[in-house]
Amino acid sequence: MRHFAVVGSGPAGFYTAEALQKAFEGHARIDIIDRYAVPYGLIRFGVAPDHQSLKAVSKRYDKVAESEGVDFIGNVTVGRDVSVAELLDLYDAVILAIGAPHDRKLGIPGEDLPGVIGSAEFVGWYNGHPEFADLDPPLGGTHAAVIGNGNVALDCARILSKTRAEFEGSDIVGHALDALDQSAIRTITILGRRGPHQIAMTPKELGELGHLEAASPIVDGADFPPVEADDALEPGQRKSITILREFVATPADPAKPKRMVFDFFAKPLRIEGDGKAERIVVERTELDEKGAARGTGETYEVPASLIVTSIGYSTPPIDGVAYDERGGKFLNDGGKIGDRLFAVGWARRGPTGTIGTNRPDGYEVADRIAAELPPGGSSDRPGAQGLKALLDSRDVLPTDYDDWRKIEETETANARLGSPREKFVRVEHWLGTLGR
Ligand SMILES: Cc1cc2nc3c(=O)[nH]c(=O)nc-3n(C[C@H](O)[C@H](O)[C@H](O)COP(=O)(O)OP(=O)(O)OC[C@H]3O[C@@H](n4cnc5c(N)ncnc54)[C@H](O)[C@@H]3O)c2cc1C
Repeated sequence: MRHFAVVGSGPAGFYTAEALQKAFEGHARIDIIDRYAVPYGLIRFGVAPDHQSLKAVSKRYDKVAESEGVDFIGNVTVGRDVSVAELLDLYDAVILAIGAPHDRKLGIPGEDLPGVIGSAEFVGWYNGHPEFADLDPPLGGTHAAVIGNGNVALDCARILSKTRAEFEGSDIVGHALDALDQSAIRTITILGRRGPHQIAMTPKELGELGHLEAASPIVDGADFPPVEADDALEPGQRKSITILREFVATPADPAKPKRMVFDFFAKPLRIEGDGKAERIVVERTELDEKGAARGTGETYEVPASLIVTSIGYSTPPIDGVAYDERGGKFLNDGGKIGDRLFAVGWARRGPTGTIGTNRPDGYEVADRIAAELPPGGSSDRPGAQGLKALLDSRDVLPTDYDDWRKIEETETANARLGSPREKFVRVEHWLGTLGR
């Protein structure tokens, strides 16, 4: 029997566990360890609450967690409660699937003013992440800005623009729903350093903006190259640009009080305000020969008392694990960090791709592990038994998959009408449900 520790229970952790199960055909015990008592990583804390169909992927992960040879060990933070070196002593291989939960910084003056919030924080706030339950984003001003041109930026702008009724059937947390309902924000500017052809927004997410109850998307046709230039784009990107061109051609609906303004070729230079964010000073850009943004020297101001930055994420370093500072992820070669130590998902690749991208990633690393530790072999490492003894000696109380089901049942039972669940937003609430 082989013993594997998969650290992180997001998509990458679950796909890797599934792949290891297949590769080792019943000759492996796999522990999926997570710092929280609730699994699924960004499926719970990242994916937008009004995109419920995407969250259904967790059913597949449930099957893995319920299957023979796999255990979920929650409420254990690797790097704090147990070190990676200790896990390597206890297990045949350790796979780090801890994602990339930290916001990347803009690196401009004024970024630390109150009112400037990273998207991981903002998304965590409306999704019930315990670290951000008390974020209290300023929603009292009329102008907000989102910096970034990817789908997460779109998620943030859409959530800021929706009415209470539009959240029906979502699992947005109560504190965010109430605060957004009272929000005074009427204009949300989405800033991107380059142009429409360079966006990383997908057609489905862009298309939704045409159907918002209270907001109209505003796009300036002058930002676009001639329509023939779209022919060179790959089909998905071409579709996104076609949707943006449709927005150019559609006048703002006067019956809708909110505006979502796409400001392309706009590079934030600094954030200004009297003790809090009030405006972004932006430089107009153009594309250079290599397609990078080049400042033109022309500057202007975008008013915003809430500024959400959505320009990427990084993985936090863990003691004793090789780290790629520039890439903000573990230093790895095709998923291998060192002897019997691997990385998968965002901790391996950085924050790119969809949920599904993590599947081939996990399978590739599982194949690599199977090549190094031939299935059928065994070791005398203690695996979960040793881990539990170690945690016990440190007064760390792990939770298991049945505990998660209890939490899930309670959340579902607490759900408001029309919501799939009322998420607990504090670690104490999860543990309280378990009588801890
Ligand atoms: C805001 C947002 C919205 C998104 N929306 C979509 C979408 O609509 N569709 C789509 O396809 N993709 C979406 N994605 C991308 C998708 O969520 C990622 O591809 C995927 O979650 C990455 O998986 P992961 O397992 O690498 O990381 P994560 O999902 O982040 O999982 C990491 C896990 O590791 C745990 N962990 C972290 N540190 C430790 C530690 N020290 N010890 C123990 N456990 C630890 C965490 O608690 C977490 O459970 C979105 C991403 C974001 C940020």
